[in-house]
Amino acid sequence: MPHTTRGNAYNFGFLDEYAKKEIRRAVLKAIAIPGYQVPYASREMPMGRGFGTGGLQLTLALIGPDEVVKVIDQGADDSVNAVNLRQFIEMTCPGIATTTKTAESSLIQSRHRIPERPLTSTQILVLQVPYPDPLVVVEPSEDKRKTMHGEADYSRLLVKLYEDIVKFDEITISHRYPTRINGHYVIDPSPIPRWDVPKLNDSAALILFGAGREKKIYAVPPHTRAEPLAFSDVPFRVEDFRDAAGQRRACARCGCTDSFLDEFVGDSGSKTYQCSDSDWCDEYVLRVEHAQGEPA
Ligand SMILES: [Zn+2]
Repeated sequence: MPHTTRGNAYNFGFLDEYAKKEIRRAVLKAIAIPGYQVPYASREMPMGRGFGTGGLQLTLALIGPDEVVKVIDQGADDSVNAVNLRQFIEMTCPGIATTTKTAESSLIQSRHRIPERPLTSTQILVLQVPYPDPLVVVEPSEDKRKTMHGEADYSRLLVKLYEDIVKFDEITISHRYPTRINGHYVIDPSPIPRWDVPKLNDSAALILFGAGREKKIYAVPPHTRAEPLAFSDVPFRVEDFRDAAGQRRACARCGCTDSFLDEFVGDSGSKTYQCSDSDWCDEYVLRVEHAQGEPA
């Protein structure tokens, strides 16, 4: 018997059981063929497409009553989009536990970031995807793109990267960096910064991608190779966050020097930098206070 929410007609997890089964089948196929974009019948959700409906459908199809869910947007648990999605999950999955702590979560839905804290084999990361196909910049026909993916023909994508190098002396893609999975399919890893791309490689956690508007699901299964496209003489680089003197910038709040930083411009035009991952920043503050013997 499906769980039903108390006092209303909605199924546990909002989606009906047939919809959940179809999404789970797509997930299994996506895991079996790492990086392959599996089509699915993306359902209408009570929010606009583009607001994370693809990620949300994955979350709701996978969620069980014992799940501990974390929802982040741009690294923060308290942004409007993350709060709305979390409230919707709480409303349609009565009794579900939610958290802001990466370490305590079993299912993480995210937009634009992978948490700084390394994920574990007991966790699943769901990324919301606006545009699933990295070949769309070089080939408008989906039919032709499918053939190119099948043949692992990414020569036109590599030419595009090469043109960047000729024009700008480096590859200028800052987000959605094309990444080859398990030596074959190249994926759009969703708009995560380059900083997060290496976390896809050999990840202990299952990473799932859901594109609601484009009706595609794909996966980077645990311990799978994920290689950003690059050239032997122009290697892939992450953002380096060094100041003019070559010093690695620190987070203005917690002081750590090994996280992805957001830039804030003050009224006077001065710039400050702070961790994008709010849970990582909170934990670091506590660690520093603990080391100094101050009460938390
Ligand atoms: Zn910080």
